[in-house]
Amino acid sequence: MKIARVAAIPLRIPVNFEELGIDHPGHNSITHVEVETDTGLIGYGMTSITQARPVAETVNSVLGPEIVGLNALSHEEVWNRMYWKASPWGQTGYASHAISAIDIALWDIKGKANQQPVWQMLGGARSSLPIYATCGFSFLKDEEIVDVVKRVVRQGFKGVKLQVGRPGLGGGRNAPALNELVKSDIKRVRAIRSAIGPDIEIAIDAACRLDLPSARKLCQTLEEVDIAFFEEPIVQNDVRLMTELRRETSIPITAGQNEGLAYRFRDMLLAGAVDVIQPNAIITGGMTQCLRIAGMASAFNVPISNGGGAPLHNAHLQAGLSVGTAVEYQFNTVAAGQVLYGEKPSQTSGMMTMSDIPGFGLTPNPDVLKSARDNG
Ligand SMILES: [Mg+2]
Repeated sequence: MKIARVAAIPLRIPVNFEELGIDHPGHNSITHVEVETDTGLIGYGMTSITQARPVAETVNSVLGPEIVGLNALSHEEVWNRMYWKASPWGQTGYASHAISAIDIALWDIKGKANQQPVWQMLGGARSSLPIYATCGFSFLKDEEIVDVVKRVVRQGFKGVKLQVGRPGLGGGRNAPALNELVKSDIKRVRAIRSAIGPDIEIAIDAACRLDLPSARKLCQTLEEVDIAFFEEPIVQNDVRLMTELRRETSIPITAGQNEGLAYRFRDMLLAGAVDVIQPNAIITGGMTQCLRIAGMASAFNVPISNGGGAPLHNAHLQAGLSVGTAVEYQFNTVAAGQVLYGEKPSQTSGMMTMSDIPGFGLTPNPDVLKSARDNG
């Protein structure tokens, strides 16, 4: 079964937060990828959390022509051809997003060819898994965020994640100082803990926007309110600084949702920088590379979990492998997935149930591929 056609479409999908009772219109940038075989099977892949147009261009003009004619089921051969074509000197960035989207489409083909859902092909470790809600967005006002979190808890979620440290180091010279941000975050997290009680897990996520002193201050102050984990506390996922922070705090540290290369996870594991790693199927080189990384995690007795959204794809990794744990229900990426595929994770009492549809079980809406196309 040979790869006959590879095509990417950059999308800018309008999303809002109706599920949270909030009006905050925006867009979700997704690169949709289709891989068609000479037998007529079509696999669908995607990547996100970056600019869709350069990724689509990388797929259409660089990687697609490189892999046409290869066996669609030989994901290792295809992956290595893509890696050496797009990243000859080991870069990551757009190359990793483009490789991920194609690799996801190949695993979709593999599932359809074998009449199995991807999570079952990976190992079928569990058919139901925990799903936590990322709902504490930094754009919410102090008086709104508590209501939003309470609403999510009423929907059945047992864990919530809050954005902290925004815009932090990425905010430019007119951004609030880090110590001011930290003070405001501490106030918000404390207010949420006292509103929802001790039984709901609260995680925080700085998206690599803080320095060590600010991350340390957050940890020292928030240990008393019981934080489930602190995701990507430090700029660039700096392994040495994360290791230092982890030695000082009892709050578990997680990282990795936007990393492209496997050695970054190896270094985090070797240094003891993290309690959980978060390879992201749609960014970290697709299922093929996430499987290599999950194997390393298993050897270190460190679990993996999903950060960076895309639960409809990442749930297969978490459900398929025994080292897998939880999926992230991020309301804006869930909204985008619902527009594109007409599907969202089925959440009941904080658990998500996997379907038995072959592949990823996701078919894009052809009208959305036209109407949401990002033409720049
Ligand atoms: Mg994150």
